[in-house]
Amino acid sequence: MFHECPECLFLSPAPQFADGSRPCPHCHATGPSRKAVPAPRLRRFDERIRGYHRDGENEIVVILVSTLLETIFEDILARMMQARGAETKVIALVLDTERSVGMRLGKLFPTLCDAKFEDVAAELGYGDFPLRWRQMRSLRNAFIHGESFDNPRETLDGRAACDAMALLDQAYDLFVLINNRFVADGPRSRRAARA
Ligand SMILES: [Zn+2]
Repeated sequence: MFHECPECLFLSPAPQFADGSRPCPHCHATGPSRKAVPAPRLRRFDERIRGYHRDGENEIVVILVSTLLETIFEDILARMMQARGAETKVIALVLDTERSVGMRLGKLFPTLCDAKFEDVAAELGYGDFPLRWRQMRSLRNAFIHGESFDNPRETLDGRAACDAMALLDQAYDLFVLINNRFVADGPRSRRAARA
């Protein structure tokens, strides 16, 4: 779990960052209103996925992790747009108009930070993340859509579920690094806008 500086949107995993008594390492603000990220409902959802994983529900794990990852990624895109000064209704419109993960990764993300998702992930130490995420989406689709795919899958095995869980844990760390690079440091972070 992370906490967010309300001034610059920096995210920190440090427990002592939560109550606001320590200055933000990024903008040096102090204050009590540091909210938890991901939101409590998503953390509860994460816990339920881990329960399905313990129960060996491989297909459910892969499908739910895919959905949660897309939700986390949508959140980071929204934060990147916010850092560039987009209003809430513009952000909602863009995300509603562009629902495909492929287009969000291939077009929207590089538009927001002038770099490819693959390059950013590699630079931040997660070079194999984009490929593994793509592989998980293919597995999920091969199971859900079955016959309309070249390699339909009747089941997904424990390895696919373990890979999905590992990917989810990586995603939290990677998306926080992306946040701190492009949102907290963004051209229109609230701190910069006020200065
Ligand atoms: Zn800050």
